[in-house]
Amino acid sequence: MIKDTTENKTDLIASLKATNAQLKMEIGERKRAEKALQELVKTYQETSLKLRTLINAMPDIVCFKDGTGKWLEANKSMLELFDIEKLDYHGKSDGELAESSPFYQDALLNCQYSDREAWNKRSLSRGEEVIQKKDGTVKIYDVIKVPLFYEDGKRNGIVVLGRDITEQKQTEKAMMRLASIVESSNDAIIGNTLTGIIHSWNSGAEKIYGYSLTEVKGRSISMLAVPERPNEIPQILANITAGIGIDNYETVHLRKDGKHIDVALTISPIKDTQDNVIGVSTIARDISDRKQVEQSLEQLRHQHQLILDSAGEGICVIDMFRKISFVNPAAARMTGYTIKELVNNDWSFIIYGGKTNKKLDIISTQKNTQPCPVKTTLEKGIVCQVTDDFFWRRDGSFFPVEYVSTPIVEQGKIIGAVVTFKDITDRLAIEQMKDEFISVVSHELRTPLASIHGALALLKSGLLNQAPERGRRMLDIAVANTDRLVRLVNDILDLERLHSNQVTMVKQTCNVSELMMQAANEMQPIAEKTGVNLSVTPIDTKLWGCADKLIQTLTNLLSNAIKYSSTGKTVWLTASKQQINQNQADRSNNLTSGIHSDCALAPTCRINYDYQLLIMVKDRGRGIPADKIESIFGRFQQVDASDSRQKGGTGLGLAICRSIVQQHEGQIWAESTLGKGSTFFVALPILD
Ligand code: ADP
Repeated sequence: MIKDTTENKTDLIASLKATNAQLKMEIGERKRAEKALQELVKTYQETSLKLRTLINAMPDIVCFKDGTGKWLEANKSMLELFDIEKLDYHGKSDGELAESSPFYQDALLNCQYSDREAWNKRSLSRGEEVIQKKDGTVKIYDVIKVPLFYEDGKRNGIVVLGRDITEQKQTEKAMMRLASIVESSNDAIIGNTLTGIIHSWNSGAEKIYGYSLTEVKGRSISMLAVPERPNEIPQILANITAGIGIDNYETVHLRKDGKHIDVALTISPIKDTQDNVIGVSTIARDISDRKQVEQSLEQLRHQHQLILDSAGEGICVIDMFRKISFVNPAAARMTGYTIKELVNNDWSFIIYGGKTNKKLDIISTQKNTQPCPVKTTLEKGIVCQVTDDFFWRRDGSFFPVEYVSTPIVEQGKIIGAVVTFKDITDRLAIEQMKDEFISVVSHELRTPLASIHGALALLKSGLLNQAPERGRRMLDIAVANTDRLVRLVNDILDLERLHSNQVTMVKQTCNVSELMMQAANEMQPIAEKTGVNLSVTPIDTKLWGCADKLIQTLTNLLSNAIKYSSTGKTVWLTASKQQINQNQADRSNNLTSGIHSDCALAPTCRINYDYQLLIMVKDRGRGIPADKIESIFGRFQQVDASDSRQKGGTGLGLAICRSIVQQHEGQIWAESTLGKGSTFFVALPILD
């Protein structure tokens, strides 16, 4: 029993020892395990810290949730996004957090909703989430949700990752907007390299040039250049490479169909972020229509300008402020101003408007009582026609005008007046001359007619039947006056025809000596009858003229010289070649330069511009008073009123002579000493 007990003890001790050893071993192992575990925890903690540091440093949002959606871990960006940095979020669901951050309630609840979607999908899901921030900005996140499951299929957790793509979205939006602008633009927008290779070509370019993108891509932009401008595009590319843009440059380009098209180009360099020029953007606007309109307008403007410039009447536009806004060259010419001097100046520069001037005193008093017609047009829109007004010249003088002032009406409103005027100085002078002429002519014609009538009436009455001598005298008077009447009528008609250019002068090369001899021969019988010597010294030279009319001139001068010389005196007809003297040329106001159109020279003839012919008809007669030396060349002008009766003249001879000489581009004048005689000079151009 004891043995048994001892044996039992020994067995127990052994068993205890074994157990002890076992325990020690287990304790050792546990310690090792604990140590390992501690090291593992330490490593885990270190890794976790590193991971947290890492995810906190990330700009993206990161959040780990457990299988029930409770937040386990979230990074700084996530907390900042929902303004919950100060909140202990651990173990809270989106709903609970939404209660703590009411502003982001919707956003957080949306998260919950999209988590559910990811769970249901059981795989990675991705979507955009829009979150409105407290400061009013809107953030767009590209959010990825990765649901995690246990092996048995139960939910383990969910990883939420999100990236702020707000800027990217904005850029995309802006790019899309730009792209749609480019695409919808009617202008051609072309992108090409610095060497001119086209890489982009919008629909506007297709419309303008007729090429599609595929047809032009990779080709040189020089394909748009017209052959006449080969250097234009290379020059533009060189400018762009140098960083110089081109704005609104108008040129001509070539379309696919070969037609030329007017375009306005705006060419800019395309730069990279380092400001290096890497390409060219060309905006081309089709300006063909505009150019055509401009061209038509220019043509119209040119036509109007031509019409206004060539208008003989003065045209003046007056605005509502009585300022001259337009004048044509004729208006400037008539008034002696330049167009520049008149435009923008007051109408009173030219239009009579109550100005006082001594010369205009009579007109002023008469006019001051009436309103200015142009003013009436401006105020009442009435067309005023004025036939007897005066306009001012720059030098202070004035001239008679006839004018019409017409209102300019735009959309029912008077905005100005057009004054169209004519200088009627010449017309008034002609009218005056005509009146004078008619009164002189009627007087000149009536006088011989009255004599003829008187003589014939006396004869008819039979009172002179018993006095045949007186009857014959009456007949002589009637015949003499009839002759005079015939002469008068002929001279008047001759002069009128000469003045109105109705006389056809058949011009040819004439030998001056022949003209002189013929005239002298014609006058010889009269000279002999009156006992006057006629001395002729002809000159052998040629001129271009009408022989008949020149002989008529010489005979008239010879006839006068004979008429006003007493018996026994001599009349000389001489001629010489004379160097052309400017003073002589100036003597006649009516001298015209060059050769008159109806006396075009024969092709073989040439005018001698150095010498002229001077024909002189000299007498030793009664002479002409100095104050009459010029007037005798006028119509019906005689030194003495009795000349017509006594000498049988009409007072028209010298006027006819002057007219003939002038039509030969020559001059006629006289020099005389009273009581000693006169010399009449005829200067005419000669031929080489
Ligand atoms: P008329 O037929 O009267 O001669 P003219 O026109 O030829 O007309 O001459 C105009 C006037 O000039 C003459 O009436 C005369 O008074 C004057 N007159 C012209 N020639 C001479 C002259 N050689 N000597 C003096 N007076 C002259």
